[in-house]
Amino acid sequence: MKRVVVLGCTGSIGTSAAKVAMDLPDQVQIVGLAAGRNVSLLREQARQFGPVAVSIGDPADAVALRRELGRAVDVYHGPEGLIRLATLPEADLVLIAIVGTGGLQPALAAIRAGKDIALASKEILVMAGEMVMSEARRHGVRVLAVDSEHSAIFQCLDGKPADSVRRLVLTASGGPFRTTPRDAFETITVEQALKHPSWQMGRKITIDSATLFNKGLEMIEARWLFGIDMARVGVVVHPQSVVHSMVEFIDGSILAQLSTPDMCLPIQYAFTYPHRVPSDRVQTDLARIGSLTFEEPDTERFPSLLLARRAGEVGGTLPAVLNAANEIAVEGFCKGRTGFTGITRVVRETMEAHEVMLEAGLEQILDADRWAREFAGGLVAAG
Ligand code: NDP
Repeated sequence: MKRVVVLGCTGSIGTSAAKVAMDLPDQVQIVGLAAGRNVSLLREQARQFGPVAVSIGDPADAVALRRELGRAVDVYHGPEGLIRLATLPEADLVLIAIVGTGGLQPALAAIRAGKDIALASKEILVMAGEMVMSEARRHGVRVLAVDSEHSAIFQCLDGKPADSVRRLVLTASGGPFRTTPRDAFETITVEQALKHPSWQMGRKITIDSATLFNKGLEMIEARWLFGIDMARVGVVVHPQSVVHSMVEFIDGSILAQLSTPDMCLPIQYAFTYPHRVPSDRVQTDLARIGSLTFEEPDTERFPSLLLARRAGEVGGTLPAVLNAANEIAVEGFCKGRTGFTGITRVVRETMEAHEVMLEAGLEQILDADRWAREFAGGLVAAG
């Protein structure tokens, strides 16, 4: 039985994690649940799973929850609440599925408390990959990938060392604008960008999938997760989203992991690792799918890939700056303050203006994150 805390339980990943826990009552026990604002879904999930503790963003909601859930459940709130949940003595594994950078401190706290972490929030490794992975090694805990691409690579590697790998190949669906001509990018609307061809996901990651910044963030995530240099992390566009990623080994052999797209699969694998347990949820009929196609990503239309590669190669504070500027630019786009191509422009200009600190600790990374948010906010406001 794996005792699991879910941070971000009310989101797209969080609700898929709840389905997995319902599927596997003998293997997975939810002992902690943390949400941001969605108090009604948190209440419902708490009644369903009977966790030891829950946490919600707003202290007033915490007061109401304490009254409703009774003494059997400890109720916390805010960033401190996330740390409490991440270090819960009853937990073996903490799933981090909070959108943005709010999961970084809880992830470090969980690692330092000796918990394995299952990582959906890619922003954490983008910001502080070196630190998170070295803390995990120091405390002897696992960092399990939940992103479908990284779960695929993890399954293909199956413990083989980095020096047996020629290249990691991340697959990208190409998003809703894979075939859209460049001159039409200026007029792309939020509604169009939110229509992902193959995955149902939260708002931020859906926009990131349309700009391909999502794939850029994943390249940096893969670099740290698998201890491999950026030059050996490649991307191929695969519109069917059936091959979730591949590993090319030094002898030329390529291993891939395939399934119809469903986040319950990588979540279940992280929860039950190193075991595979039966589930009927995901069925893949390759004959019905028919063909699987692959193409080079177009970095002229999607320069986000080049920006991310540069940030990953330079390292230090630059990936945190890319990530923060992107978050601000996506928010600006969703609020109609900048256009679709403005997202990449804001990120590029913020990266260019940043003085990179190469030997960066947590303080410097958080400072760079704050600086980038302010600078990018200024660019968005200036239009
Ligand atoms: P959603 O927007 O659907 O959900 C975000 C979750 O985070 C919600 O539960 C939200 O709570 C919670 N949250 C936000 N801010 C806080 C906070 N300050 N304190 C506590 N909880 C907070 O996002 P997704 O589930 O799509 O994505 C989550 C992460 O997983 C992202 O980093 C994303 O990149 C990654 N990911 C997602 C995939 C997907 O298929 N969705 C695939 C691979 C990775 P509330 O709703 O209550 O406010």
